[in-house]
Amino acid sequence: MTATAIKTRPVNLILLGPPGAGKGTQARMLQDRFGLVQLSTGDLLRGAVAAGTQAGLAAKAVMARGELVSDAIVLAVLKDRLDQPDVGTGTILDGFPRTAVQAQALDDLLARRDQRIDAVISLAVDDAAMVARVSGRYTCGGCGEGYHDQFKQPKIAGRCDKCGSDKMTRRADDNAETVSTRLVAYHAQTAPLIDYYRARSVLTEVPAMGDIGEIAGALDAIVSKLATS
Ligand code: ADP
Ligand code: ADP
Ligand code: ZN
Repeated sequence: MTATAIKTRPVNLILLGPPGAGKGTQARMLQDRFGLVQLSTGDLLRGAVAAGTQAGLAAKAVMARGELVSDAIVLAVLKDRLDQPDVGTGTILDGFPRTAVQAQALDDLLARRDQRIDAVISLAVDDAAMVARVSGRYTCGGCGEGYHDQFKQPKIAGRCDKCGSDKMTRRADDNAETVSTRLVAYHAQTAPLIDYYRARSVLTEVPAMGDIGEIAGALDAIVSKLATS
């Protein structure tokens, strides 16, 4: 599918939701459809851990416990990424911001670039279902496409539909114990951002317990309006 033309000023979206809500899955689809760049702080942090950078070394144990990495580290990795030229067309922030400090810092970072948050989409899901979502998640090591043991299987078992790779990976923190810590962190530190953005009239809550295609349709409608406004 060809990317829809987007207005001249970069568009910045936030996908909010607990672990397993479908942020990564939907962000990748929006990226393909609208030519926006998915920025996942989880992916950036996992990259830093794998590369053994200072930030990665500090983040590794915190992530393994399912707690939030410090605002200073997360903001440093995000800022580095925002400085790269490919994010010029606009971004889909997936898993960021997760605290009030991060939300404020994001406003400042964008204001300095003469940009702002255009829409915040909160994926509304049932916590109880997120354990199964996260526990069954796996990802293609070749292209990053996400799959699920029951809910999103590749056409040929073990082989990525997108790139053909048979190298599938599972995250060390995607287990039932860590998910409950991550859900607690979400409710304590991230869910309050829903009110923060509602007060600024940029929030849309989208029911996200249905199937992936149906949710993608709802997000398409929201982003299409931004693209043409
Ligand atoms: P998040 O980025 O919010 O943690 P993901 O997009 O990685 O969530 O989705 C978590 C897991 O659930 C993945 O294995 C994904 O394939 C699957 N998934 C995503 N959306 C849905 C959905 N609407 N219904 C069922 N499974 C889903
Ligand atoms: P999910 O949405 O499935 O919980 P992510 O990949 O977004 O997973 O995050 C994985 C882990 O990385 C989190 O549990 C946390 O330790 C860390 N992390 C990611 N983004 C942030 C952030 N914005 N602030 C603090 N920690 C983060
Ligand atoms: Zn792949």
